[in-house]
Parts: sequence; C-alpha cells; structure tokens
Amino acid sequence: MTENPNAPAARLPTADELRTRVLRVFDVIGAAGSAAARLGEPGGQGLPAGTPITGDVLFTVAQTDDADCVISDAAQAFPVWRATPAPVRGALVGRLCELLRTYRNALAGLVTVEVGKITSEALGEVQEMIDVCQFAVGLSRQLYGRTIASERPGHRLLETWHPLGVVGVITAFNFPVAVWAWNTAVALVCGDTVVWKPSELTPLTALACHALAVRAAHDVGAPPQVAGLLLGGRDVGAQLVDDPRVALLSATGSVRMGRQVGPRVAARFGRVLLELGGNNAAIVTPAADLDLAVRAIVFAAAGTCGQRCTTLRRLIVHHSVAEEVVQRIVSAYRQLRIGDPSQQGTLVGPLIHERAYRDMVGALQQAAADGGEVIGGERHLAGLCESAYYVAPAVVRMPAQTAIVATETFAPILYVLTYHDLDEAIALNNAVPQGLSSAIFTTDLREAERFIDGSDCGIVNVNIGTSGAEIGGAFGGEKHTGGGREAGSDAWKTYMRRATNTINYSGEMPLAQGVQFG
Ligand code: NAD
Repeated sequence: MTENPNAPAARLPTADELRTRVLRVFDVIGAAGSAAARLGEPGGQGLPAGTPITGDVLFTVAQTDDADCVISDAAQAFPVWRATPAPVRGALVGRLCELLRTYRNALAGLVTVEVGKITSEALGEVQEMIDVCQFAVGLSRQLYGRTIASERPGHRLLETWHPLGVVGVITAFNFPVAVWAWNTAVALVCGDTVVWKPSELTPLTALACHALAVRAAHDVGAPPQVAGLLLGGRDVGAQLVDDPRVALLSATGSVRMGRQVGPRVAARFGRVLLELGGNNAAIVTPAADLDLAVRAIVFAAAGTCGQRCTTLRRLIVHHSVAEEVVQRIVSAYRQLRIGDPSQQGTLVGPLIHERAYRDMVGALQQAAADGGEVIGGERHLAGLCESAYYVAPAVVRMPAQTAIVATETFAPILYVLTYHDLDEAIALNNAVPQGLSSAIFTTDLREAERFIDGSDCGIVNVNIGTSGAEIGGAFGGEKHTGGGREAGSDAWKTYMRRATNTINYSGEMPLAQGVQFG
C-alpha cells in the first residue's frame, strides 16, 4: 500500500495537547489524585499508556505488583456483598450510572485519546455503560427463580439463584470501557465481586472507570473492594485465570487468547465466559433495499476503523446486484473523512498500532495473491505523523472464500463474494471458524426467515448491519467466538449458580419415581 496522494492536509494534535486532555479528564471526574499516584512520565517503569492518534506514549502507568492482594480483597468482600439484598446492591450500580451520565463527555474524550474512536462512537460506548447500568438496576429486583410442579404430594420444587464469588474480567482494547460495564454492572447486582484486568493498551480509561466505581461504592456505603483493578499484561491476567478464588472468568479478546485461558480455567473447574473474535458476514439479496443496505454496510465495515468484534468483514452479494453494491460502497468510502478522531466530521480514526497496520497490509497482499481485486487500503497522513496508522478502508472482490477471508484481520477490510442461491450464501456465511454476528438485507420475508434459521451465529440481524448491538439482548457468539453471552436478556444467569430445591411439607416421605425403600 502506498500513501494516498489525495489525502487531505490536516493537523494532528501534539502529544502534549493529548496529555493535557487526559489530565483534564482525571481532574473533571475528580480522580486527579488517584491518577497522579499511578501516572508517570513516558519512558518510566510500568505500562506505556499511548494514543493511536499520534502513536506517542503519553504516560507510564504503574502496574499492579500485588495481584494476589487485589483478588484477596475481592474474595474477602464477597460474603458481605452477597449478604446485601440484591436491590440494595442495585443502588451501587445506580450510583455508578449517575456518575457515568455526569461524566459521559469526559470519559468519551478519554476513549478517543486512548483507542482512537471518533467522538460519536466514543460517546456511544459510554452510553452503553449507562444503558447496562440501568438494565442491571432493574435486574436487581428481577433475579427470578422458577417454581416447578412436583410429582410428589405436599412437595414444592423450585430454583433459587446464588452469587458465585469473585468474577475476573479480562477485556480487549477496542471496547475499553463498555465490556467492563457489561460484566461489572450485572455481576455486582448478582452479588459477585469483580476484579478487572483491562487491556494493557488501555490503562487510562480503566483508571478512570475504576475511580468512578470506587466513588460510587463510597457514596452508597458499599465496600470499595467489590470492584478491583489489576493493571498489567498477560502475566497479570494469568493470575486471574489460575486463581481458584476466581469463580467465573469472563474474558474478551482474540481467539488466540481464548485458546490459552479457556482450558486453564476449565482445568481447575472454574467457569469461563468467552467473548472472542468474529468474522461477520452480511448477505445482500436481489430483494434488498439497496439504499438502506449500503448505508448499513459502510458503517459496519468501516466504522471504528474495522476494529470491532462485530465489524462486517465479508459481504455475500447476489450476482445480479454485486456490481452496483460494490460501486456504491466504493463511492461512499471515498467520501469518508479519515483522520483525527476528535475532530468533528471525521468518520474513520486510526488503527490501534503498527502491528495492526502490518496485519492489514499482509492480509491485502495475501488476498491479491489469491486473485482478489483490492480497492482502497492506502495509508493516510503518514507525512504528518510516521508513528500513527491511518488507513482508507478496503474493499476486496474475491473469487472465493480463501483462508485469508476466513481469518479475522482486525482492520477495515471488506471481502466481497457473490452467490446465486440463498442456500449457497448461508453456507458461505457459516463456512468460517467464528460465529459472532451476521446479517441479511432483504425485503422478502421468506429469505429473512430462512437466514434466521440458517445462520450459525449468536447474532442474526435483518436489515441491520452486523455491528452496534443493544444491551437489552444477550451478546455473544458461537464456535471459535467462544459461546459466552453477556449484557441483557438472561445473561445474568452465567454470573450466578442455580440451586434446585425440593421442599417436603407433607409429613410423609414419598420417594421420586415411586421408589419404595423399606
Ligand atoms: P487480545 O486477545 O490480544 O487481548 C485481550 C485481553 O486478553 C487483554 O487484556 C490481554 O492482556 C489479555 N490476554 C491475552 N492473552 C492472555 C493470557 N494468555 N492470559 C491472560 N490474559 C491474556 O485482544 P485485543 O487485541 O485486545 O482485542 C481484539 C480481539 O478481541 C479481536 O479478536 C476481537 O474480535 C476480540 N473482541 C471480541 C469481543 C466479543 O465480545 N466477542 C469484543 C471485543 C473484542
């Protein structure tokens, strides 16, 4: 890929300006003191806290050197927390919700600096935290168990739900705050305590969220240890993976990470909730409303610079409309403003780091070697800043679903395949290892229903792109995506254990299945 000669001249903020922005956020949210204790000059000892906007390291953040102590604190807080009535636990999450609303803009600004999301998407991510907190507050009065008809007279059969203990939460860089909130808000109302290990790429947003959680706990008189934080890399995450006090490990990230942590938690009979990579497809049928489809496709494929687990990576278009659809996407892509994500009007921010850029270049080269026709994908703004990686989203017309198409490359590459028959299209949708999100664009009810039956993904949409889920539904995917479900619907059940209770109030002792004994 060569630098695009048509890239607009622009100015990127300096590292000093970004540093000032970060410090201002900590000041606004009232966490300047706790942040100051952990932030040091770039180049010091600890985690480098950088920004993809310029590729600079802004601070060094002190790593957690005693993970065992944080896990112990959370384990010790558990008996107190589980004995707190669920609606009272909800008050803590309610207070966190208020704080998030108050500091929505500040937190979103931090998300933009740390991961390069455009302002609107960063605000959306914070809104997701607010939404899930609201959901969890309602849930705190709705942790329902079932009553089941007993086969024995004078007996009652029922299910009760109980907190698990410490929930370990490992999160990925690309949703640095929302995924923590999905897990934490629900786990806290369920009576669990939480220890969070955010991505090593996002310690700043983690510090800010943690400060707000501690403040919320303080404000409602809850033990602050119910929401612990571990800062560090994989080695620190590994302590959550292997610690028997961690009853549930909820881990979000790559399939590679899931392969490492899943078996280790299983080996100690811990519970694991995996939210791993996706390779999401959308089918466009001849009955699609193409105006709507193209708008949805462009957001799903190019939004967040292709760095969502639900990013649209494969487009499976009916051959009769393929030419038109590709042309319309390419022309929409040419109008996307690429650059500083904090500038109004920017729609595509930077890739997270150089490795992500190298992965994109490698994938496009492989696709071309497989016979693909690559449109776009050029690097932008390299003249302004060598260490930041801005790219034009790419569309690649592929002759077949080759190995590179079946691989999740975490960058804005949309592979286009064509089909003749809907069964063939659904088979292509399913013919990858991952099973997160999928979509069909059609106005034909029969096609929509066939797709809902046929897609093997955890998310199956009709006339909506693959990304941008609401928190009310359970979120997650199948196959190599890991099978976990988070956020809404009955995902809370993963954070609790179910006890089946049989109560005999008959004065007799009839045995189940009519068994006679003595
Ligand atoms: P990553 O796998 O590199 O890291 C994710 C987290 O796992 C980080 O906190 C990291 O420190 C930790 N980690 C990695 N290996 C570990 C180990 N062996 N033991 C303990 N912790 C370990 O992922 P990333 O680059 O941060 O994020 C991008 C990936 O995450 C993509 O594949 C994307 O699809 C996926 N993702 C999935 C979802 C989902 O809900 N399904 C959401 C967001 C991102």
